[in-house]
Amino acid sequence: MANKEFKAESKRLLDMMIHSIYTHREIFLRELISNASDAIDKLYYRSLNENITGLNRDDFSIQISVDKDARTLTLSDNGIGMDENDLENNLGTIAQSGSLAFKKENAANEDIDIIGQFGVGFYSAFMVSDKVTVITKPYGSDKAWKWESAGAEGYSIEETQKDGHGTDIILTIKPSTEEENYDEFLDSYRLQGLVKKYSDYIRYPIKMEVEKSRMKEGTGTEEKPAEYEQYTEVETLNSMVPIWKKNRSELKPEDYNNFYKEKFFDFQDPLLTIHSSTEGAATYNALLFIPGRPPFDFFTKEYQKGLQLYASGVLIMDKCADLLPDYFSFVRGLVDSQDLSLNISREMLQHDRQLKLIADRLEKKIKSELKGLLEKDREKYETFYKAFGLTLKYGAYSDYGAHKDVLQDLLMFYSSSEKKLVTLAEYKERMKEEQKYIYYACGETVEKIDRLPQTELLKDHGYEILYLTDDVDEFALKMMRDFEGKEFRSAADKDLGIEEAAETDETKAKAEESKELLRMMKDALEGKVTDVRLSGRLKSHPVCLSADGGISLEMEKVLNTMPGSGQQVKAQRVLELNPSHPVFETLKNLFATDAEQVKTYANLLYNQALLIEGLPIEDPVAFSEAICNLMTR
Ligand code: ADP
Repeated sequence: MANKEFKAESKRLLDMMIHSIYTHREIFLRELISNASDAIDKLYYRSLNENITGLNRDDFSIQISVDKDARTLTLSDNGIGMDENDLENNLGTIAQSGSLAFKKENAANEDIDIIGQFGVGFYSAFMVSDKVTVITKPYGSDKAWKWESAGAEGYSIEETQKDGHGTDIILTIKPSTEEENYDEFLDSYRLQGLVKKYSDYIRYPIKMEVEKSRMKEGTGTEEKPAEYEQYTEVETLNSMVPIWKKNRSELKPEDYNNFYKEKFFDFQDPLLTIHSSTEGAATYNALLFIPGRPPFDFFTKEYQKGLQLYASGVLIMDKCADLLPDYFSFVRGLVDSQDLSLNISREMLQHDRQLKLIADRLEKKIKSELKGLLEKDREKYETFYKAFGLTLKYGAYSDYGAHKDVLQDLLMFYSSSEKKLVTLAEYKERMKEEQKYIYYACGETVEKIDRLPQTELLKDHGYEILYLTDDVDEFALKMMRDFEGKEFRSAADKDLGIEEAAETDETKAKAEESKELLRMMKDALEGKVTDVRLSGRLKSHPVCLSADGGISLEMEKVLNTMPGSGQQVKAQRVLELNPSHPVFETLKNLFATDAEQVKTYANLLYNQALLIEGLPIEDPVAFSEAICNLMTR
């Protein structure tokens, strides 16, 4: 019998398991039970699709048995079984592509809690066993196989004998040491507890011979005092009612949390649990979770959104994408409906009216639950928003703002006056009577935005400003256009809707007076700006940049850093000068005496405005030289 080596990555995972100091070693049992249940599901599903007779749902079960003397714990199922190839492919390598990819990404970080992060499945058996033996026979075959491994050294496969189809997993439990107690996994009472805790909802009976005690017959009467005898009885340990079919009142938060963590391979409790049942036009039970943080691959192309879909309790699809809109792609969970047929194909599902109805209902439900959270537990909502706010904002931007109604109440931005995240409704509520717009300003950080010259006038008026720090923010607001009739307006916009900033007769006169100066500056900045203007929005700063047209400076930055954008986008830059600033006086004086110097100053001021905006200056060396010249004059 040849000993085969595990594939490299499996070996590493296996090593981690064997040397695991993981405190939740007990999860190996739920992993093996879940594999057994999957194997039965596969066979049952096949029997339905292929009309196999002779397979009765009631005959399926998972058996647990213990031999204390031999220190073995055996899990048997009468599921689909495995042939030689399956054994090679399934148990010789890691099946879960997710955990593999994750391990690659985090190759340097050995300590990452991979066990908590994923269902590591079958290999977890090595956390508690010295040796693992698998005896299996595929349904419909007359050959049985034995796979055996004592750990990282490798495994062997040989032909063997087995009565019925299905799989026995035989664990030789490690001896207990002073520090570690492994005997507990041979204790039937403890095993019963573990099944209840982790696998109660499994839809096939998990049976075990349980030791019991009863009064001997004929004792316990006046003549004969009670005598007791031990006997054993096979008991079904799990209730088999899936948690989503149970009544909400029967369930404790930890029941939901355990279920979530086990099912979706998270070691953190979910932030929010939504358990709903509906009857009528669409009849279904849904159990949805909002994770406490984004899954490790959430921001990659590989992440697949979707909910598990069950038809009358039988899993028919693992990630049904049609059940979730993109902007709620972070939601995990499942839907069980009796309105769907068991052998419906993926293609048919896509056009299923019932499924669309369910998806609509779920979207509304998720939205209302999130809104409820925002109202009832702000802190928790902010945790949620920090994790998934970006997804909501992309949603507001996508499809030309079509999802505005669903999302606008869920959005939050940092407020200049409140110094924290606020909702659009809260902003609107605080707006001054004469205030026309919802103002925003963009930048890298809140601190940087707070010091932007463009915000001065607005602050002077006591207007609140939303500080946008994410790339998508301004795009989202532009797409939404307004919130309940109040338009969004950038602090850098030409028209702020403030009298004082608008062209008054006085500023018009001033501009007229300095027409030639402004023209000379504009010529000096040919190709860099489309205009040089006097500004009404500046208070203490000499200059700022603004943009004409639909593309702001922030949007220019974002669009040009997008991969594959190719063509460079350019905002129509406008250099604004503060006519009340001493620098403007200097310019005016120079204009009369030293026109060349005006050109130099124009460039200096333009570069300053770029720096304030956080935009790169074209020629830092020339800029620095010009300043040195000024200093040494
Ligand atoms: P996962 O279950 O996440 O795919 P595992 O490592 O737990 O990963 O199992 C690997 C594969 O081995 C399974 O996908 C399944 O094909 C097969 N397998 C494991 N246990 C059984 C079993 N009891 N009966 C049939 N096949 C099994």
